[in-house]
This record gives sequence, structure tokens and C-alpha cells, in this order.
Amino acid sequence: MFRFFTVIGVFLSLNVSYVGADDQKAYEYNQKGVEYLSEKKHRLAIDNFKKALQESPDNEKIKTNLALAYNNYGFLFQKNGQPINAVDNFEKSLKYAPENMYTLINLIGLYYDNNDMKQAAYYLEISEKIDPNFPGLKEFKNKLSKEVPVEKDSKKTETVHFLIVSDEKVDVNSLSNVKIILEQAYSRVGSFYDLFPKEKLTVVLYSEKDYDKSLGDAPYWVMAFFDGKIRIPLSEKKYSKNFLRRIIYHEYTHALVRYITKANAPLWLNEGLATYSESFVSPMDKYFLKDYINRRTFVPFNELPSDYSQIKGQAWANLLYREFFLLASFLVDKYGAGTVKDILEDLGQGKDIIKVFEKRLQLSYNDFGENWGKYVFSKLSI
Ligand SMILES: [Zn+2]
Repeated sequence: MFRFFTVIGVFLSLNVSYVGADDQKAYEYNQKGVEYLSEKKHRLAIDNFKKALQESPDNEKIKTNLALAYNNYGFLFQKNGQPINAVDNFEKSLKYAPENMYTLINLIGLYYDNNDMKQAAYYLEISEKIDPNFPGLKEFKNKLSKEVPVEKDSKKTETVHFLIVSDEKVDVNSLSNVKIILEQAYSRVGSFYDLFPKEKLTVVLYSEKDYDKSLGDAPYWVMAFFDGKIRIPLSEKKYSKNFLRRIIYHEYTHALVRYITKANAPLWLNEGLATYSESFVSPMDKYFLKDYINRRTFVPFNELPSDYSQIKGQAWANLLYREFFLLASFLVDKYGAGTVKDILEDLGQGKDIIKVFEKRLQLSYNDFGENWGKYVFSKLSI
């Protein structure tokens, strides 16, 4: 399961301010800054706006432009997974436009994603004073009010590649087991995507009781999910070690897919690849799949749901996830892991899935769906 609540930074559109011609030097520097900003050369834009401001220190329009340049520079770092540089630029932006709600929201999201709940709450408080009805603010308030109690009495521990936050009721054995599996996922799933991020990913482990609280209004069949952090409910009773490994491989795949595509993967591909990674733990049950195919209950490729709210109920979710798995298996078996990575990277550049498939697979998106149908029937039907 993959859930993506967090506002991924806001890139402010180029609603720049022009400075009057009464101050020639300031005017020229500002104009240059505006040009660089439109070419997304943020560093140069910032330098020029700063020079303009030196010439005309009280000019509010130049201040607004400089704040805009810092915000967008920060957004770029955020997108590229460099939170420290992103925070630095967003905070600089606020010096010149302290009440810019977009920048404030960016900061709240960033601190939240990086587990600094204190800082997230600090900027939330400031934002509420400025505009309590600003879009997205209430959602953050909700999330923080659920999160802080769980993470306040929590233990933090680290592995080489993960930061693990767990509530006190999670026992030592479960914790050390999870640590081992996470590092296995890092290397096994990482080899498939040829991607080994240096920054630590946060994993939150819940005892069952706390997990219910953090789930909020998510569908009841959601067990674990990824929303920038991997969240796992630990239940000794409900699932075996192998099942826990599948969950972790699944969620870690979401982390890598989001990292490569910058959250631009269609639902079937995202879930399909995550489910495909489960087969690194143990193969999918062929009879389970055959049964599904032979009943011909699959959803036509071009009618697959595009977001989770369209998936109603456990039974349908089970069927769909099998279909997502079969789609991803076909993609990997026929075209290879390298092509899958190329597709994800194209998506990461904001390209449309239909165009990406045409370019990388040399066939239309719908033909891919049809070929897949033939493949599963020939491979799996009795
Ligand atoms: Zn998933």
C-alpha cells in the first residue's frame, strides 16, 4: 500500500514583480534576476536580486522576488531528496517574505517528513496565525496531532540505512528482526533498481493499538503503508516472519519508486512493482493466480483504478493487487529490469506514462495491455 499525503513542496509560479525605473542599477539587477529565475537558474537569480536589494534596500518588490527565488531553489532541493539544503533555502525565503503561506507549508511538510515534529509544529503555529484556512493546513494539523503522541514516547534506533522510530511496546526481538529485514530489502530491492540511497529512510513501527490511531480514515484493509515514511504495524499473532518480510520489501519498493519517479508512477505500476518485490521473498502462489485468471475476473487494462479511493473493499483489493502483480511481472520478464528503471526515470522527469511506454517499449500503452492479456492466459491458464 502506498499513501501519499504530504504536500511535495510548492513551486511558486513566476509572478515576479518589476521594479520602477527610478533606481537604474536596482532595476537592471532585478531584471537579470527575473530572467535567470525564468530559466530556473536559481543561484544566479538569487545573486542578482541580492545585488538589487543592496542598491535599493527597502524595495518590497525586490524582497518578494528574492523570497520567490529562494523558495523555488528550496523546492528543487526537496525534489532531489536534499532536505537540509531545502530547509536552508525555505528559511532564507521567509526572511524576505515571512508570511508566505506556500513557503511555510513547504517547511512544515519537510520537517514532518524528516521526523522533526517540534519544528513542524512550530511552523504550523505560525501559519495558523497568518491564515488558518489556508489549503492543506488543517490536514497537517490533523496529522501532527496523531503523530506527536506516538512519536513522543518512542525509541529511536538506527541501522546503516534506516532510522527506526518505534513505540515503547515494541519488543527487542521484533525490533532486531525488523532491522535485519530492512537491510536485506535495501540490498535486494536496491539491486533490482540499481539504487542505493545514502540518506536514511525513516521507518515507524507501531504496536497494534497505536497503529489504529495513526491510520485515521484509511481503508481498514490497509496494513502497512508508505507516505514518505514506511509505517508498519507489528503483530506477532497476525503474521509470520515471511509475511513481515513481504510487507517490508513491498513498502521499501514504494520508497524507491517514489524516489525515482518523484511520485509520478501510476497506481498499477507502483503497486505492481511493490508486489513484484514480494516475490523476492517467496514466489507468488501460482494456483492462486491461475484461479484468478481462469475466472476471467480481471479488470481491463485501460479501466484500472487510478487512485486508492476507487478501490472499495478487501475482496476487490485482493483481486486488483494480483492483477497489478501480473502486469509488473510481464513488464519485467519481457523487457527487463533496466527498461523498468528507464521508464521510472522518464516518469521522474514529469513525462506522461503513455508517451514513456511508446518511447521505451515501442508500442502503444493499450497494446501493452493487450499483449499482457495474451501473456497471462498462455502462461497461467490450464
Ligand atoms: Zn503498496
